[in-house]
Amino acid sequence: MKLILLGAPGAGKGTVAKLLTAIDGSVQISTGDILRGAVKAGSDLGKEAQGYMDRGDLVPDSLIMGIMGDRLQEPDCAGGFLLDGFPRTIPQAEALTELLTKLDIKLDMVVSIEVPRDVIFDRLCTRRTCENSDCQEIYNIKSMPSKVEGICDKCGSAIVQRADETEEAIGHRLDTYNDKTAPLAGFYEKSGLLKPVTGTSSDAVVSAIKAELNI
Ligand code: AMP
Repeated sequence: MKLILLGAPGAGKGTVAKLLTAIDGSVQISTGDILRGAVKAGSDLGKEAQGYMDRGDLVPDSLIMGIMGDRLQEPDCAGGFLLDGFPRTIPQAEALTELLTKLDIKLDMVVSIEVPRDVIFDRLCTRRTCENSDCQEIYNIKSMPSKVEGICDKCGSAIVQRADETEEAIGHRLDTYNDKTAPLAGFYEKSGLLKPVTGTSSDAVVSAIKAELNI
């Protein structure tokens, strides 16, 4: 399947993407994960992105399009992909449309996962992430703790609170989402690709997507 997952930070895009990859082997492409990996590796991309990310600001569109232009041409994308956290601005969505046309790729659907702001705020404040950039498994100290406190079940690395998941940065990320990313729903509605889903549970979102795609 070839999907875009839209939704505020904390709406569950990453969790839904991971559940969907298990269905047909489509790959999850998270620009946030790619950027965090670059910051950890200390690459030029990471050095340029880090300040924006720590403040909860968006990284410039040109950097993101550079990443995605390469990523979508990697062989594993031929079997399908789930775009998680991209596009995030109208210029990114326009550039993606051009890129997909050039690569002769057709999207199946744009899923907008809709969750109330207070639920999201609470989820993000209690979210923890595996610090291993090749893993980045997500936990929640209230609803989905690891088996051993502070240690990732999957890879044994430390589980940490992200620098952009303090209350102040979360508030700023949600405002940025409302300003810059929420208008994408209108953009994709016009192209007939938009499927809004109320994201109360990730399993319910996955079931709605499967029903829509008849799989
Ligand atoms: P996420 O893990 O998707 O919440 O992304 C973490 C941070 O990475 C965001 O707050 C942005 O600073 C940056 N980022 C991720 N994806 C994008 C994107 N498509 N456009 C701009 N910045 C992004």
